[in-house]
Amino acid sequence: MKALVYRGPGKRSLEDRPLPSIVNQTDVIVRVTRTTICGTDLHILRGDVPTCEPGRILGHEGVGIVHETGSAVSSFKPGDHVLISCISSCGKCQYCRRGMYSHCMTGGWILGNRIDGTQAEYVRIPHADTSLYPITPDADEDALVMLSDILPTGFECGVLNGKVAPGSTVVIVGAGPIGLAALLTAQFYSPARLMMIDRDTNRLGIARRFGATDCIDIGTVDPEAAVMELTEGVGADCVIEAVGVPATFELCEALVAPGGTIANIGVHGVKADIHLEKLWDRNITVTTRLVDTVSTPMLLNTVRSGKIDPKQLITHRFKLAEISAAYDIFGRAADTHALKVLIEA
Ligand code: ZN
Ligand code: ZN
Repeated sequence: MKALVYRGPGKRSLEDRPLPSIVNQTDVIVRVTRTTICGTDLHILRGDVPTCEPGRILGHEGVGIVHETGSAVSSFKPGDHVLISCISSCGKCQYCRRGMYSHCMTGGWILGNRIDGTQAEYVRIPHADTSLYPITPDADEDALVMLSDILPTGFECGVLNGKVAPGSTVVIVGAGPIGLAALLTAQFYSPARLMMIDRDTNRLGIARRFGATDCIDIGTVDPEAAVMELTEGVGADCVIEAVGVPATFELCEALVAPGGTIANIGVHGVKADIHLEKLWDRNITVTTRLVDTVSTPMLLNTVRSGKIDPKQLITHRFKLAEISAAYDIFGRAADTHALKVLIEA
């Protein structure tokens, strides 16, 4: 089968690989019909994720059709259409029992990281009963690919951790796919102000269409002054970091109101400073987490009912054989205006 393989920092190649087979009887082999490239894959390619070793097939998002099941799998059978969660969970370990699937002791974020991922024709999904979601054959697969990772990540790591509440003020730093997913799902809670900060005017235009009340272009205005002006000098109740570099994290520290929360989503590859000399008396909370995908069933309902339409995030489409071009387009998002690139089998 064709698969996109990580070959060390800066290197990737589309290769022929053998079909995956059942390793544990709780595994399912899925024929991938749709996948996508995540900003996290670019972090891996920059060498930011040391757990991902050269030789690994990348990708942790996708939908597909069950091809083969291990003898211990009870919820799925060949031919079933499934949504693949970016998080694999055994459902039994101490972390799974606490709903913290991201830290499952034999799972968590392993797909396209510690084990081969979804940017291939077939993928092995461990703990399949508790890591796949059934979808109907007529489901909108393009929309559902956005539920493997970015929608639950934006919602759980940004909106839930950030305690977005009715009437609150929210700033999202970074209008990439994850920031836009946080923007879409923050609106479940009717915040009074939803400010979006980026340096890409195209992305800010999309944020405006997706419901941002204020778009702040960091290339032309001072974001701290702009947020202070919009919040009568106090800052925002919830500041969501959706980039993953020191400058944007430190910007969040300047934007948070007393009593507020900085909810980090970004994947950080180098250290970022916490300015306690400015923050020690401001009653703020800083949260970090990986997505647990506990909200995936709820998000499936909101997509099915048309409350949110994550398909709007898809800007480009490619066949799996063209995935190298897809990486080029996605990696140059400022020039190409790429958000999510859909890869079809
Ligand atoms: Zn991802
Ligand atoms: Zn577990």
